[in-house]
Amino acid sequence: IKILAVFGTRPEAIKLAPIIHTLKQRPDMTVAVCLTGQHRQMVKPVISFFNLNIDYDLDIMSQDQSLFDITAKALHGLQQTIASFQPDWILVQGDTTTTFTSALAGFYSGTKVAHIEAGLRTYHKYAPFPEEINRVLTTRLSDIHFAATDRARDNLLKEGIDEANIYVVGNPIIDAMLMTEEKIRSKSLDARFQNAFQYLESDKRLILVTGHRRESFGQPFEDICKALKHLAQSHEVEIVYPVHLNPNVTELVHRMLGDTCNIRLLEPVEYPMFLWLMQKSYLILTDSGGVQEEAPAWGKPVVVMRETTERTESLEAGVSVLAGTSTQAIVEAVERLLDDEQHYQAMARQIDLYGDGATRYRIADILMRRA
Ligand code: UDP
Repeated sequence: IKILAVFGTRPEAIKLAPIIHTLKQRPDMTVAVCLTGQHRQMVKPVISFFNLNIDYDLDIMSQDQSLFDITAKALHGLQQTIASFQPDWILVQGDTTTTFTSALAGFYSGTKVAHIEAGLRTYHKYAPFPEEINRVLTTRLSDIHFAATDRARDNLLKEGIDEANIYVVGNPIIDAMLMTEEKIRSKSLDARFQNAFQYLESDKRLILVTGHRRESFGQPFEDICKALKHLAQSHEVEIVYPVHLNPNVTELVHRMLGDTCNIRLLEPVEYPMFLWLMQKSYLILTDSGGVQEEAPAWGKPVVVMRETTERTESLEAGVSVLAGTSTQAIVEAVERLLDDEQHYQAMARQIDLYGDGATRYRIADILMRRA
């Protein structure tokens, strides 16, 4: 069986890496990896950390790229890649423009498409934020759907997807975390990270922050930054914030938070370092999908800085809270975790909500069966 795995962004690479390695070990499978290059700079460290070999590099990234540019260029590059490799399956992950475009390329070329992390929905208005429409369209274009949870499967069933084509397999992010944890141990990365973050040795509690969503560009991000500044100035905490490279985020964040000494603004950090920081953290503030999935696996409470989330399982389990983007709501949610020990302990529960670390084997077995 010939499988073409396509990705373009950091989270896609992290979640596909364990699967690509597993598929490559199966004697009956030939795997090629295609990088669209949608977010080249942020994906490169993941490629090198997970030792991924890129067979086709579409190199589509350009300055000030629009969704039109990404879609058109990726589609064109994928047409050539598919013609050259002639895959039986195209493997896509998540909800990015790369995900949708690859599924569309599969459809146009008559190649079967398998979608990993299928069935996530916010049921929120589509425009102008692409994630939800990318998920919905990818579902329509895919032949099999790898859902992480029962909730995701139910969402697909509600949309009329045939039960026979849905597999609840967990989310490969947990596989990636466990593989990375193992590497941190075996390569003694711990000492290197400890050295890089000596300021974390104080008794100040660590708040880890990420944020990147288009839906929050502008006023919501300003409100988020105000909340972070307030928390830094009024509590004995260290805030560590690896800032996303999107210029809409970096410029604002550095302008508003650059001069606060207990807010450490970093460039995006490599995946093992991020997981290490997560382990050291007291709580996490994020709008990231992947981080919402990772945190409960390590018992770290999450305050979600969005108006909506598709990772509702953690909300219902009580290990994350949806604060929205208003300054006051974020401050209140964090202060409650900092000040109310009982509330903190209730949220800091380690719980397997999104996977057990064996998703990659299930996906490989199913692709084999469905060949
Ligand atoms: N991450 C990372 N370095 C960072 C920040 C995040 O490696 O500096 C990882 C994080 O552990 C998670 C993924 O990147 O696995 C999340 O990516 P992002 O927030 O960009 O996208 P989303 O998950 O929202 O699609």
